Amino acid sequence: NKTVNVIGAGLAGCEAAYQLAKRGIPVKLYEMKPQKYSPAHHSPNFAELVCSNSLRSDQLENAVGLLKEELRTMDSLILKAADATRVPAGGALAVDREGFAEYITKAIREMDNIEIIFGEQTGIPDDNITIIATGPLTSEGMFNSIREMLGEDYLHFFDAAAPIVSYDSINMDRAFKAARYGRGSEDYINCPMNREEYENFYNALVSAELADIKEFEKNVVFEGCMPIESMAQRGPDTMRFGPLKPVGLMDTRTNIRPYAVVQLRQDNKIGTLYNIVGFQTHLKWPEQKRVFSLIPGLEKAEFVRYGVMHRNTYINSPKLLDNTYNLKKNNSVYFAGQITGVEGYIESTSSGFLAGINAAARILDKERVEFPSNTAIGALSNYISDPSIKNFQPMNVNFGLFSNISSDIRDKRKRNAENAVKSLSILSHIYANVKNWVE
Ligand code: FAD
Repeated sequence: NKTVNVIGAGLAGCEAAYQLAKRGIPVKLYEMKPQKYSPAHHSPNFAELVCSNSLRSDQLENAVGLLKEELRTMDSLILKAADATRVPAGGALAVDREGFAEYITKAIREMDNIEIIFGEQTGIPDDNITIIATGPLTSEGMFNSIREMLGEDYLHFFDAAAPIVSYDSINMDRAFKAARYGRGSEDYINCPMNREEYENFYNALVSAELADIKEFEKNVVFEGCMPIESMAQRGPDTMRFGPLKPVGLMDTRTNIRPYAVVQLRQDNKIGTLYNIVGFQTHLKWPEQKRVFSLIPGLEKAEFVRYGVMHRNTYINSPKLLDNTYNLKKNNSVYFAGQITGVEGYIESTSSGFLAGINAAARILDKERVEFPSNTAIGALSNYISDPSIKNFQPMNVNFGLFSNISSDIRDKRKRNAENAVKSLSILSHIYANVKNWVE
C-alpha cells in the first residue's frame, strides 16, 4: 500500500503531507482538532502558531534565517504561507497568524490525494508508513502508544531547560575557565561577580517579567529544577548558596575569591555552545536577554536558545532516530516536529520536510535524502540523531551545530553570510535530484 499516514496537522505534519502529496503519493492526515484541543491550541485551522507570530530572523547570517531560505529553495508549504502572509517585523519573518493558518489549511484541503481524518488518533497504524507529528502537546492517548512502542525511558514530557549561549559571544576578558577546587581543570567557564554586580543582577532578576503560565503548567512540580527567579525570590543570598556559590573558585587573574559565580557548562562536543548552569527559567525571552546580559562576561552573549519551562513531549531522538527522522528499530515509522526534540516553528517544519521526502523516497524506491552538517537542515537532523549525545535537550538550529564551515573572515556576520551562500549551493545540488520526483 502506497498511502502514508501523517498524524497531526501542525507545522511538521502539514509540511510532510504536502511534500508527499505533491509527489503524487496518497496521504491520510489525522488531526484531532476541532473535536479535541490541546491546552495551547484554540483555532480549528491547521498549522496553528500556539504562541508568538514571529518565525524569528529572516537574515542569512542567522542560522534560522538560513534554514528558512533552504526550505524556500525546496518549495516548503509553510514558508510559502509565511511569505504570503508576512507582516512588517524588521529583520524577522512575522506573519498574520490567522491568514497563515488559513493559507495552509486551504492548500492541504485542495490537494486531491490528501484524505483528512478528524478525531484523536490513539494508536500507531501498522499498515503503512506513518509519520508521527503530534507536537509538544501530544494527546494522552497517543503519548501512551508512543511510550509503549519506544519504552518508558525514551519519552520525556517536561522541558525545563537553561539558556544556551555561543562560546564566541562570551567575553573571556571577564570570564575565566576553571572547575571548582581545581577538579577537572578547565571544565567550566566562570563569570565572577563582586557584591555590587551581584546585587544589581539580583534586583533585576526578582523584578523581571515572567512568561504566561498556562493553566496546565501550574500543576507541574519542579523537583530539582526550580526556576532561577523562584530561587532568587526566597532571599538575596539563596542563589549564592545554590548555583552561584563561589566556593572552590578563585579568579585566576585577580587571585580574589568572587562574591558569586555564574558557571557555564559546555553543551556540545565541539565546544561552540555553553549552557548557564542552574538557570532554567520562566522569564520572557527579551527579559532573559536583558537580565542575563548583566552577568559579567555575558554582556554581549548570543542566546542560541532561551530557557524554557513548559510541557514538552519529546523522544530521545539521538538513541532512536536516524538523520532522516526515521525510527531505527522500525523503519516504517518516522517522527517529525517538536516531538523529535527540535525546538521552534521553523525547526519543526524542517523535520516535517525531511521526514516527508524520505517517506516519499521509500514509496518511490529512491535513495534516502540526507543533508550534510554544513547546511542548516542537515546540521539539525544530524545533531538530533547523534548517538554520542547524552542528556538530550530540545535544540534550536544555530551555527554551533554546523561542521565543516571555515573562513578567514573575522567579522561574524560576514562570515556567517559567506557560509550561508555555500550551504545553499550544497543544498541546491542535493535538491536537484529530489525536485522532480513524482509517482
Ligand atoms: P504542533 O504545531 O503542535 O502540531 C501538532 C498537531 O497535532 C496539532 O494540531 C494537534 O492538535 C495534533 N494532535 C496532537 N495529538 C494528536 C492525536 N493524538 N491525534 C490527532 N492529532 C493530534 N516555537 C517557536 O518558534 N516560537 C514560539 O513562540 C513557541 N511557543 C511555544 C509555546 C508553547 C506553549 C509550546 C508548547 C511550544 C512553543 N513553541 C514555540 C515550540 C514549537 O515550535 C511549537 O510547539 C510548534 O507548533 C511545533 O510544531 P509541531 O508540528 O511539532 O506541533
